[in-house]
Amino acid sequence: MLRAPTLLLAILMVATATQAQPEAAAPQTLFRDVRIFDGRTNELTPGHVLVEGHRIARVSTAPIPAPEATVVEGGGRTLMPGLIDGHVHIMINEHFAVVETDLELTDLAYNSVVVARRFLMDGFTSVRDMGGPAFGLKRAIDAGHVVGPRVYPSGAFISQTSGHGDFRERGDTAYSIRDKDSLPNFERYGIGMIADGVPAVLAATRLNLRLGATQIKIMAGGGGSSRFDPIDTTQYSKEETCAIVEAAADWGTYVGAHVFNDRAVNRLLECGVKTFEHGFFISEETMKKIARAGGYVVPQMWGISPDLARNPLMPPAKIPMVRELGEQYADFGRNLLKHGVKVVFQSDYVGTFADAERARRYEIWWRTQTFDSNFEVLKQMTSTAGEMLALSGLRNPYPDGPLGVVEEGAYADLLLVDGNPLEDISVIGGTTEWFDADPEWKPIESLRLIMKDGVVYRNTL
Ligand SMILES: [Zn+2]
Repeated sequence: MLRAPTLLLAILMVATATQAQPEAAAPQTLFRDVRIFDGRTNELTPGHVLVEGHRIARVSTAPIPAPEATVVEGGGRTLMPGLIDGHVHIMINEHFAVVETDLELTDLAYNSVVVARRFLMDGFTSVRDMGGPAFGLKRAIDAGHVVGPRVYPSGAFISQTSGHGDFRERGDTAYSIRDKDSLPNFERYGIGMIADGVPAVLAATRLNLRLGATQIKIMAGGGGSSRFDPIDTTQYSKEETCAIVEAAADWGTYVGAHVFNDRAVNRLLECGVKTFEHGFFISEETMKKIARAGGYVVPQMWGISPDLARNPLMPPAKIPMVRELGEQYADFGRNLLKHGVKVVFQSDYVGTFADAERARRYEIWWRTQTFDSNFEVLKQMTSTAGEMLALSGLRNPYPDGPLGVVEEGAYADLLLVDGNPLEDISVIGGTTEWFDADPEWKPIESLRLIMKDGVVYRNTL
C-alpha cells in the first residue's frame, strides 16, 4: 500500500503529466452574419461569433478570419444563448398516482430520456432539477450516450413528515411515525426524502451531496400537489433549516426552497437560503428583503394563470380557488421587478411529459404577459438563470465559463432563430395554447440550429 506522502506525490505527477500534454486544435464553428441577443441587452447587435471547442472564442462586429472553421451562414438570423429552465423534475414524468401504483424506477428512467431530448430540442441547453434521481441521466448526457441538456441535479427533495414532500396516502401512514414498511415509491425511488430533526436532515443533505447534488432542495411550506399540508403552513424549524444550509455550504453549494409565504421566507433568509421557488403569497416587504440578500425568486407563473382552470384534471371544486388566486396575485411578477428581485424562469410541471412540454411552451408566453416584456422573460431564461446556476460554486459541474450569455469565454450553448424573440416570443416556442395544444410533441420550426457545448444537435438550415 502507498503511504500518504507517496500517494500525494503520485497524484501530483499524474496531474503534471496531464497538463504537459499539447492540446489538440479544438474544432471551430463560425456563425457569420448574425444578429446577436447576448442575454443581457434589450437589442440585437449585428456581428459574427466564433466557437472553439466547447466555448465562445470571439464575438465581433467585424468579420472573423477563421479558415479552419465550419461556417454557418446566419443570414441575419438571431443568435442567442441556449435557454435555461430553473426548476424542472425530469424524473417525475408521469402523474403522481401512477408513480405510486404502476411504475418501476426503470419506467421513469426510460421516460426521462424522452424528456431530456425534448428539452434540448425545444432550445433548453441547461436545466436545474429540483427533485428526482437525475444523477444517472446527467452522467449519460455528459458522456454523450443520451441527448439532453446540462443537468444540475438536487437529488431527492427533503421534506418534513407531513410536509410538501410527504406523498403518502391517508391509508399508508398507519398511526406511528416508526412504520418503515410504508415508504411510497416517491421515497424508494429517490424523488423525495422525509427527514425530521437535525441529525436526519443532515444525513439526507449529505446523502444527496454524496450522489452528486449540485444544490439542495427543501420543502419549506405547503403546496398544491400534496394532500395533507395546507398551503399556508411553514415547514422545517429554524434549527433544521440552518443545519441543511450549513451542510450544503460545507460542500461549497447552496439551498433552494419550495415556499409561498412571508413567515417561511423570513426563516429561510435568516439561515442563508439562496433561491425561493414559487413564492406567490409573499409581501412587498419580503420581496425587498430577498432583493437585499441577493436571493432569486423562481416562480412558475402558470400557477396563477386563469388558464389553469381549464386543466381537465382539475377537480371542479378547486376551480373557483384557482380563479381567485389568479386575481389576488395578478401583480406578483410586476412587484418582484419593482423591488429589484432577480427572477428566473421555471416550468415545474409534473405529469406526463407531453403535459409538461405543453405547459412549458405556454409558460414562456404567459410570462411575457405577467412581466410585461419579452426582454425581461428572455433574461430570466438566459443570463439571470445562468448566474443562479453558478451559485453551485464548488459543486458546479460546468465551471469553465458562464452559461446563458453570448460573450467570449462563455460555454457555446447557442440557438440560431428565425425572427426576433425580443419582438415575437413564439419564435422560441411561446404559445397561448396549453391544454388545448396538440399533445403530440412537434419541433419548433423557427429554432433552426441548436448547439450545446460546441456540438450541433439540430440544424435545419
Ligand atoms: Zn417543483
